[in-house]
Amino acid sequence: MKCCVVTLGCQMNQSDSERIRSVIEGMGFEMVDTEEEASLIGVVACSVRQKAIDKVYSKIRKWNQWKNEKPLVTFVSGCILPADEEKFLKQFDLVFRMNELPDLPDMLHQCGVASEFSAKHPFNDLHREDERTDFWQIDPTYSSDFDAFVPIQNGCDKFCSYCAVPYTRGREVSRASEDILAEVRRLVERGVKAITLLGQNVNSYGLDKKGQEISFAQLLRKVGELGQASGKEFWVYFTSPHPRDMTRDVIEAIADYDCLAKQIHLPLQSGDEKLLRRMNRNHSIEDYLKIVDDIRELLPTATLFTDIIVGFSGETDEQFENSAKVMERVGYNMAYVAKYSPRVGARSARWEDDISPQLKSERLARLSEILKRTSKAHNDAMVGKTYRVLIERVDPRMASALSGRTEGKLPVRVVDAPAELVGTFQEVGITSASELSLTGRLA
Ligand code: SAM
Ligand code: SF4
Repeated sequence: MKCCVVTLGCQMNQSDSERIRSVIEGMGFEMVDTEEEASLIGVVACSVRQKAIDKVYSKIRKWNQWKNEKPLVTFVSGCILPADEEKFLKQFDLVFRMNELPDLPDMLHQCGVASEFSAKHPFNDLHREDERTDFWQIDPTYSSDFDAFVPIQNGCDKFCSYCAVPYTRGREVSRASEDILAEVRRLVERGVKAITLLGQNVNSYGLDKKGQEISFAQLLRKVGELGQASGKEFWVYFTSPHPRDMTRDVIEAIADYDCLAKQIHLPLQSGDEKLLRRMNRNHSIEDYLKIVDDIRELLPTATLFTDIIVGFSGETDEQFENSAKVMERVGYNMAYVAKYSPRVGARSARWEDDISPQLKSERLARLSEILKRTSKAHNDAMVGKTYRVLIERVDPRMASALSGRTEGKLPVRVVDAPAELVGTFQEVGITSASELSLTGRLA
């Protein structure tokens, strides 16, 4: 019995896949990387980009053709738009939401999948408290020995006008802080070197519990204390925070603990006031720049990453220029620039998608140019200095080199270094810098 799970989209989907894998392995399946080998195939879908949605449809068409040749069961989970869900129900054998994961063995039995679980499978013993969060009690099969995702929250209440997430993942729900801290503690004891706390709005963590849960800043402090007590070295990241909820106490907490990595991903989306309002982001450019100034003041070594959308419905040249200006002013180390595409169900899908594909490409290229310039300036300033680097893999393009990243998540190629260093921290002297990466040698 072999199963292949295809994961599309963001880190949250990767984290979901790790828990899906645990359940399926528990049913006696061997996990494989190639779809052709498997008798059970699933896809963890993403609805943020049209390309990702198109990919799910092309995969299921192919898999359904294979059913003429061999027995095959298919499923889909992850981020699914209500409009797609109805179509998927006709094409896949099983469509489930992540919170239904504890019932996956039963659902697969109903689809005719035999398994080593008897009528009483291990997930019947889960301490079922809240059907929205019980699935987090399932231990994930981590994809890496040294780099792990820890979900702290699911769903989103912000309803940005362009975004599918509130419709695909539902309303915001926080995972219990004691469960988060227990998972972080287990990972630290295992010697994991990088942990990313995941959510769509990590810094509104706990607000849904109305005073019954600690805040995001308090959660960070507890992780920081756990790090200090462990005596181990590791870096903790989080993604994504929302500027609206980015209070100074979050930045202060990061400043106070070594294990809280000095890297912040602060989505901008647009540098124009009017567009931000139409995007329903609920903060001003001034608010955003104040947070940037606080970060620069309290975390002077921090790197800054962002997400920006170009070609949003109605974006004028002048409004686009305002995004370019904020990019110049902030001087990001990294920016993920996306061309706007309407998502069925999201509010902006009712507005005209009036920026031509060509203009969207031109705007994206402009912002990429700015990014390359600001990132190169940061990288140039690192040459001749020594940085701690987490070695992640053998460099795919140079067998005698390794690739890793600094605490600020800047990619570094480490030349003439042995493969056994993968998964360790090393001191690396930076010898040269390019637009989006660094090169160095073991110090
Ligand atoms: N929660 C995060 C925030 O508040 O910024 C972002 C999560 S979203 C799933 C990831 C990124 O996808 C967004 O930051 C945005 O830049 C991009 N994105 C979301 N919807 C989009 C759309 N309709 N068109 C283009 N990019 C989109
Ligand atoms: Fe989408 Fe906005 Fe929620 Fe981020 S905050 S997930 S962009 S609705």
